Amino acid sequence: STLGLTRGDLLRSDAYINGAWTDAADGQRFDVTNPATGAVLATVPLMTQTETRAAIAAAAAALPAWRARTAKDRSALLMRWYRLIMENQEDLARLLTLEQGKPLAEARGEIAYGASFIEWFAEEGKRAYGDVIPAHKPGARLLVLKQPVGVVGAITPWNFPNAMITRKIAPALAVGCTAVVKPAEATPLSALALAVLAEEAGIPAGVLNIVTGDPARIGQELTGNPIVRKISFTGSTRVGQLLMAQCAEGVKKVSLELGGNAPFIVFDDADLDAAVVGALASKYRNSGQTCVCANRFLVQSGVYDAFAEKFAEAIRKLNVGDGLTAGVTQGPLINQVAVNKVESLLADAVAKGGRIVTGGTPHALGGLFFEPTLVADVPTTARIAKEEVFGPVAPLFRFETEADAIAMANDTEYGLAAYFYARDLGRVWRVAEALEYGMVGINDGMISTEVAPFGGIKASGTGREGSKYGLNDYLEIKYLAMSA
Ligand code: ADP
Repeated sequence: STLGLTRGDLLRSDAYINGAWTDAADGQRFDVTNPATGAVLATVPLMTQTETRAAIAAAAAALPAWRARTAKDRSALLMRWYRLIMENQEDLARLLTLEQGKPLAEARGEIAYGASFIEWFAEEGKRAYGDVIPAHKPGARLLVLKQPVGVVGAITPWNFPNAMITRKIAPALAVGCTAVVKPAEATPLSALALAVLAEEAGIPAGVLNIVTGDPARIGQELTGNPIVRKISFTGSTRVGQLLMAQCAEGVKKVSLELGGNAPFIVFDDADLDAAVVGALASKYRNSGQTCVCANRFLVQSGVYDAFAEKFAEAIRKLNVGDGLTAGVTQGPLINQVAVNKVESLLADAVAKGGRIVTGGTPHALGGLFFEPTLVADVPTTARIAKEEVFGPVAPLFRFETEADAIAMANDTEYGLAAYFYARDLGRVWRVAEALEYGMVGINDGMISTEVAPFGGIKASGTGREGSKYGLNDYLEIKYLAMSA
């Protein structure tokens, strides 16, 4: 079966190492399933350290020639990859929805978003400029070169099976690094399809390798192997901490994009209709399964009831179902563990005084579908005030003053994205500067773009992806001091 793809060869069930489609050494495999139906879509190799070591060796062997090419030459190959992805957007989106569950329209959006990083870094890679520094003594010449870090290990999550790969790999490849990618076990098919198109674009064997399989064992090899010079990870804070600790021994560079606990603040002077549009986009995109999804709605007393009512009305219009069905805006959650977490955080919020305004239960469709939910009057002692729900539940917390809102917003170990709606210019500046977050959406619920730096502070991680800053994560600075 080719799962209804126009190009059946985009569905691969082998890993991609050194330009060859490869099975696990011991032939072991695992299933990839459709979260909307439970159907098995494909089986892929269950690889471990052995195959990862081979992939790292391939990346190391490909590095000298790839690094030695001109940036313009690498850029041309990346642009070809970008175009092939956009030409196959429909198939890639279908595959993504099948393995991940998000509505097809969102999947199409992700393919375009993912491809945009390749386009951007194909351009930006040509501008990895160094410096000439006025010397500190007569006759000296001081120069700064930027050089690729070398072999990169990338570990990516299931919520954006395409874009989380491209935004690491595009800057890496653009500046001359080679890479070994371990996609999430739930969503390897989108990663393998990307490799098909990279090969077709002419990206040489070994430059991009995709290893599917056992997360802990592949992670051990990627972090423990001295050939790998950098780990780039997107996923949970728990695994990010583990990988950072594993990287400590070899003092590897790390970029970590981890969990969040995004506040979405609605002030009395907000445009409420705009706030509802932003809230809906920020909370319910991907059924609440993004690291920048609003996790806590902090609403000022003067507009609390009005906002709750308008937001509930908008939530009731969401359409839950199989992402391939036309008109569906909310797909299933990724797995049963995710559903259990949503139920447990919601039960806790209700036990502590939260009031269900809409939703509140698993969806009548059964399986992994959950009702888009609004729960009001949640106290800050509820677990959901501290923990990422990663599902379609919006809890409302009430606040009185601007200072209270800022204190509540910052009362978390996380610091990825925050959002607020206000019109007063003085307040906009004060709040924007006071929020301890890497990204702040002001009167805007959708902030992700390849042209801006994405990333967090505190337990949400380190490093930035996208934009001119995203290039630095894959470059080392070398200082040359030359005396005449
Ligand atoms: P989530 O909770 O979103 O699934 P994870 O952090 O568990 O987030 O997963 C993100 C990525 O990290 C996935 O590719 C997953 O396979 C990988 N991963 C999970 N555990 C480990 C581990 N011990 N070592 C390396 N990678 C891991």
